[in-house]
Amino acid sequence: MKYRITADYHTHTRYSHGKGTIEDNVRVARDMGLKSIAIADHGFGHIGFGLKYRDIDKMRNEIQRLNQKYPDIDILLGIESNLVGLDGTIDIPQEYIDKFDIILMGFHKAVMPLSFHDAKELFIKNALSLFLPIDKEHLRQQNTQAMIKAMGRYPIKIITHPGAKIDIDSKMLAKHAAKRGVALEINASHGFMTVEYVKIAMREGVSFVINSDAHHPSRVGDFHRGIEIAMAAGLEPEQIINAELA
Ligand SMILES: [Zn+2]
Ligand SMILES: [Zn+2]
Repeated sequence: MKYRITADYHTHTRYSHGKGTIEDNVRVARDMGLKSIAIADHGFGHIGFGLKYRDIDKMRNEIQRLNQKYPDIDILLGIESNLVGLDGTIDIPQEYIDKFDIILMGFHKAVMPLSFHDAKELFIKNALSLFLPIDKEHLRQQNTQAMIKAMGRYPIKIITHPGAKIDIDSKMLAKHAAKRGVALEINASHGFMTVEYVKIAMREGVSFVINSDAHHPSRVGDFHRGIEIAMAAGLEPEQIINAELA
């Protein structure tokens, strides 16, 4: 294999709807020889299993303790925030932004929209466009612009599974992500991440990140599918923020 992946920046725990504890994920990451892991549970607006505001300090303390216990790995408190508004609003209140070491952002369907208008434009229309004659290109551009606005408003480091769940313009997103130093994810769990998407995005000079998106500790550090896609697209390790030459 050409790449070694040194960090997993997208793992879930019981704090959202993962199966393990933070320490379970950390243990597996150490066994895999990773230098860094981020706990990136679903944003506060996720219906049913989003992070709870009251858990954040508890998670921070737990991570601090684990960083002392396992000095050989860097454990980050992250969040997989959700896009909730056309104006780029994500589901992290401003006063919580600084509580995280790393902010990821993605689009998920079971999320509280910012307003009725956002519900209609961002959630309902995208869902209906799968089987109704709605202007798909307009939606695609609208979705992409909302993500670009979010990158301008928040210190987002990674866009998770771009193009999953809603359609986006990969070229346009990649162009703006490159400008802002935001990495696009090659998600090893989602089957729809394609070589084609990576090829389009890489032409814009954007950086990538390969993550497991593990919802169970046993899947932490499982990058297999992501590495396959990256190699098929012809990515070099320098283009992947968490890769080095094997
Ligand atoms: Zn996700
Ligand atoms: Zn996820």
